[in-house]
Amino acid sequence: MRSNDDLKALIRTIPDFPKPGIQFRDITTLLLDGPGFAAAVDRLGELAVPLAPQLIVSIEARGFIFGAALAKHLGLGLLPLRKPGKLPGATIGIDYALEYGHDRLEMHEGAVGPEMRVLIVDDLIATGGTALAAVNLLRHAHAHVVGALFAIDLPDLGGAELLRTQGVLTESLFA
Ligand code: IMP
Repeated sequence: MRSNDDLKALIRTIPDFPKPGIQFRDITTLLLDGPGFAAAVDRLGELAVPLAPQLIVSIEARGFIFGAALAKHLGLGLLPLRKPGKLPGATIGIDYALEYGHDRLEMHEGAVGPEMRVLIVDDLIATGGTALAAVNLLRHAHAHVVGALFAIDLPDLGGAELLRTQGVLTESLFA
């Protein structure tokens, strides 16, 4: 059994990626470690079970890795939120601001039923802009967002706090 610190040590920090001044948290080193990846998914499962989700929602692209593994672990379906123009059917979407510029998340129309208990999963929360867009899109579709789980939280950037102010239970494995 690995401690949380052992798992956290599997995530490396790459300076100046993708731009100068950014300390990029790289999860690929955690994914390479089979027992480490499995332990991370088990721990996400422990956080997820009390929330009684009916569906996992994950955010393109690194969120798909943890979201799909967690959905399998819990025996639940997976709703991928995608960047614009990737989904073949009719979509609904939401635009959101980034530090420089903007982006958009889309989902298939009718993918969630009214009041369905959905749990958001992504690899990392920084400012919270991406996750909040996911929350707003899901709420617009009348889903019940039971929480948001992340492998990594960068607490200095305030994203987890922002989600909590919006009534979203927010947890992460590593801060
Ligand atoms: P936010 O919208 O500022 O909270 O940024 C979170 C989104 O950006 C997530 O979808 C992450 O995958 C991505 N992201 C931001 N910083 C990092 C990082 O250091 N490592 C990996 N992903 C990151």
